[in-house]
Amino acid sequence: MNVPKSDLPRVVVIGGGFAGLTLVKRLRKLPIQLVMINKHNYHAFQPLLYQISTSGIESDSIAYPLRMFIKKQQNFYFRMADVKEVDPETKIIKSDIGNLSYDYLIINTGTKTNYFGNKEIKKHAMPMKTIPQALNLRSLILQNFERSTVEVDEETKKFLLNFVIVGAGPTGVELAGAIAEFKKSVLPLDYPDLDPSLMKINLLEGGDRVLPPMSEHASKKSTKFLKELGVEIHTSTIVTEYDGKLAKTKDGKEFATRTLIWSAGVIANNIKGLPEECTEPRSKRYFVNEFNQIKGYKNVFALGDVALMVSEDYPRGHPQVAQPAIQQANNLAKNFPKILKGTHNLKSFTYKDKGSMATIGRNKAVADINKLKFGGFIAWLIWMFVHLISLVGFKNRMVILISWIYNYTNYNKGARLIIRRFSVTKRRVRTNAEL
Ligand SMILES: Cc1cc2nc3c(=O)[nH]c(=O)nc-3n(C[C@H](O)[C@H](O)[C@H](O)COP(=O)(O)OP(=O)(O)OC[C@H]3O[C@@H](n4cnc5c(N)ncnc54)[C@H](O)[C@@H]3O)c2cc1C
Repeated sequence: MNVPKSDLPRVVVIGGGFAGLTLVKRLRKLPIQLVMINKHNYHAFQPLLYQISTSGIESDSIAYPLRMFIKKQQNFYFRMADVKEVDPETKIIKSDIGNLSYDYLIINTGTKTNYFGNKEIKKHAMPMKTIPQALNLRSLILQNFERSTVEVDEETKKFLLNFVIVGAGPTGVELAGAIAEFKKSVLPLDYPDLDPSLMKINLLEGGDRVLPPMSEHASKKSTKFLKELGVEIHTSTIVTEYDGKLAKTKDGKEFATRTLIWSAGVIANNIKGLPEECTEPRSKRYFVNEFNQIKGYKNVFALGDVALMVSEDYPRGHPQVAQPAIQQANNLAKNFPKILKGTHNLKSFTYKDKGSMATIGRNKAVADINKLKFGGFIAWLIWMFVHLISLVGFKNRMVILISWIYNYTNYNKGARLIIRRFSVTKRRVRTNAEL
C-alpha cells in the first residue's frame, strides 16, 4: 500500500463512515501514524440518500472527501481500497491494492443490504445503501416516467409507474413520502401527458406497523401522513419472490413492477480472518466489550454498525444508526492515549440516546425525543435542523440548505436529469435504445 515505515505506532482505521470519520478527527494530535482505508474516497451521509434518489439534491452535497484530513494533520495517510482480510496473528490486513501491517486496527465498515439469502431478489431489487445505488435508483425512477410517456399500453404504463418499497423503517417511509410528493407536485408539471392515477406507491412491511423501531405514536402519525399522500401501506406482508417484473408475497399478494426498492434490512460488512467466535452469526456484527475491543483482542476494535456491544440496556446491541457510531468513536478516542501507554483503566462506553425521527414529505415528520413525541410541522423543522447540522463540511451544509429552500419555495422544481442511464436487465448504465 506504499505507506512509509515509521517509528510511531501504526493505527489503521478501516471505514470512513460516521465512526471512522469521528475517530480520525479525534486522534489527530496523538503520536501515531494514522492510516485510513475506505472503499470510496469520500464519506457518504446516508440519511439523505433518499433525496438523491428522488432528485431533491445532488449527490456531491452529501459526500465529503476523505483526503481533506491530509492537510489537517501530520502522519495521516489515506488509501482508497477494499479490505478483504485481516490476519490478527501477523497483524496484517489484505486489500485489493496490497497488504499493510498494523499495531492497532479499528474496523468501522458499517453494513450492507440484507436480502436474507434470496438470490433472485438480490439480482432484481434496487438497494439504496450507497451514493452510486441512490443514483441508479434516481435514473430508474426518471427512466420509468420517460418510458411511460411513449408507451401506449395501459398495463405497461401501470407496471412502469408502480413503485414498490419493501421495508417500512425510516428509509422506506422517507422514500415513500418523497416519491408520493413527486407524484403530487412534479408529475403534473414535468409529465402533463401522463395520467397521475396510473402511478402507485406501495409500501410493504413484514411487521404489523410502519416504523417498527419508533414509538406507536410515530407509527400512527406516519401512517396517517403517508395515506394522505396516497401511499398504499401493506403491513404483515413479506415479499418472497421478485423476478424483475412481478413481486409475490407470503400471503399471496402480487405486485407487477419494474421498480422494487429493497430497504428491508442490513447485515454487517464483516471482514474475514478473525476467528468465528468474534462474530454474531445472524447479523455478522463483531462482539465487542465495553471499550469496543473485539472479543479476544486488545489491539483490534470495532465501532458503529459493525460492532455488537451487548449490555443490560441493549441486549441485542445498540441501534444501527449514526449516534452509537459517533459516540463509540469519541469514547475510543478518549481512551486511546491510555491504550498507547498500555494502561488498563479505560472508560466504558455508555450510549446517550438522542432520539429518532423520520420525515414524510413536505412539512411532515415524526420525532421521538426521549419521552417527547412530535408529529407534523414541528417534527419536520427538528428533522431538518438535526440533519443539516449533522452533515459533514460547511460547504455541504450550505448547498443542502439552499437546495431545501429552493425546493420548498418552488415545489421541487429542481433538475431531474438522467446523467447515467441504468439497465435493469444488465445492471449497468444503459444506452438510449434500451431506455
Ligand atoms: C438510506 C439510509 C438512511 C439512514 N438514515 C439514518 C438517519 O436518518 N439517522 C441515523 O442516525 N442513521 C441513519 N442511517 C444509518 C446510519 O447511516 C448508519 O448507522 C451509520 O452510517 C453507521 O456508521 P458506521 O461508521 O458504522 O458505518 P458507515 O457510515 O456505513 O461507514 C462504513 C464505511 O466503511 C466502508 N467500507 C465497508 N467495507 C469496507 C471494506 N471492506 N474496505 C474498505 N472500506 C469499507 C464503506 O465504504 C463506508 O464508507 C441510515 C442508513 C441508510 C442506508
